[in-house]
Amino acid sequence: MTLVNRVSAFFLVALALALISYSAVFYVLVRNYLNRRFDEDLHNALQILSSSVEVEPDDAKWDPAEHGIDLHQRILNEVIWVVANEEGHAVDRSLLATRQDPVTTPMLEYARKYHPSANGPADFGNWRVMQVQLSAPNPKPMAIREPHEYASLLITVARPRGELQTTLRRLGTLVIILPAIVWLTSAVIGRWFVRHALQPVREMADRARSATKADFTLRLPVADSRDELSELAITFNGLLSQLQMEFDRQQRFTGDAAHQLRTPLSVLQGQIDVALRRERSGEEYQRTLHVLADQTRELRQTVESLLFLARAGADSVAPNGQTLNVNQWFADYVEHWKEHERSADLRFSIKSNGVVHVSPPLLSQLLDNLVGNALKYSPSGSPVIVSSEEDDSWLRIDVEDRGPGIRSEEIPSIFEPFFRSESARRSGITGTGLGLSVANRIAAVLGGRISCRSDLGQGSTFSLWLPIHRLSEANCGKTAEQNTLIESSMEA
Ligand code: ADP
Repeated sequence: MTLVNRVSAFFLVALALALISYSAVFYVLVRNYLNRRFDEDLHNALQILSSSVEVEPDDAKWDPAEHGIDLHQRILNEVIWVVANEEGHAVDRSLLATRQDPVTTPMLEYARKYHPSANGPADFGNWRVMQVQLSAPNPKPMAIREPHEYASLLITVARPRGELQTTLRRLGTLVIILPAIVWLTSAVIGRWFVRHALQPVREMADRARSATKADFTLRLPVADSRDELSELAITFNGLLSQLQMEFDRQQRFTGDAAHQLRTPLSVLQGQIDVALRRERSGEEYQRTLHVLADQTRELRQTVESLLFLARAGADSVAPNGQTLNVNQWFADYVEHWKEHERSADLRFSIKSNGVVHVSPPLLSQLLDNLVGNALKYSPSGSPVIVSSEEDDSWLRIDVEDRGPGIRSEEIPSIFEPFFRSESARRSGITGTGLGLSVANRIAAVLGGRISCRSDLGQGSTFSLWLPIHRLSEANCGKTAEQNTLIESSMEA
């Protein structure tokens, strides 16, 4: 069942229920009102006629003229009335009630006798009837009664229900036909409206269907209505833009990775081909194998970086997280650089007692990349300073060099995989363009970030920001005071 049908069906069922309830209530209220009015008229007529009777202790007199009662007033003309004496003979009656009329004859018969049920309004055939009997308590004998004097008088008023029933029938027809017309009109207009309102959904579906598998250039049509559907289309288009960016990035990454791997593989292949061209001395084979070993190591590093970059997006939780004191950790880390050819230029000035929660191998790899770059790009003999600062929530480790610096417009790109600055490429310094993107990913995985400040020709400072870990000193192994401050130069 389509959404249009479902919404229309719900709307029509709800409307039908509302119309039926409204019509039923309306009909019942109007019918009760008309019935009440009908009975009231009957009762009033009976009252008027009753007030014409003068009831004395010994007789009851029927004398309308004496009481100034006009028997032709409207209300008495609309009913049939009969005043009968105790013997059941009509003493007086309305003009409408004639014996010749087959319709009124049964009514006249009825009026001869008192029917207790007609004390309140009662139904008699197609008539609505009311009676009242007025009797003298001690009636005098008939022989000494004057004309118009009776022992008792029975007043009967009756009104044919035909007209009322016709009115009610008409009302009934009206409360069925009118809602039915309203319902049918609403069904047609409502369906058109729902179809029209959901048209954007159909257009979105058509557009999505027309797209090929990985076509992220697709954009859903945005209706002018500025409603939930256009909001959905805008949100979905935003998502598609992000997917497109990610897809483009992935494609670039895959292309760059293939290119990056092809170069060392070609070098390996070339070395092997040259070595195999003729018989070589043991020394030559040794040399070739060393070159192959270096190339293979580089290749392995590149592959590992690529794997890390490919994986880190998916699982962004730091593996083997440990709580460590920055000072303590640096004491070991400094050793790591002792054998480097530029170890004399490397200075560590770590004055933080901060505690961070990180994976030590990842932190080590991250700093290796920053320190390695600083040593790689700065001239030999210039200092590379690793220092730290901390506040309540962040630890900052700066790696500062006096190298060529980075052009400000290139800074946003240096963390992109495979990006190498113009000057780095021209200078002939080898690199893959993966070091900073790996470092940046590691920083994110550790809950921190990297920023870069650089003055062209003056040098660059890469800052690693890590969140301070709040933990009782006891858990940390050593107190802050016990930690020695690392202030060392590799020369020392
Ligand atoms: P690689 O060093 O292998 O080229 P990186 O990802 O480590 O790749 O660095 C990306 C680029 O950023 C480098 O090619 C270089 O242009 C620039 N860069 C990184 N560190 C420095 C630095 N300390 N001084 C100057 N340029 C740098």
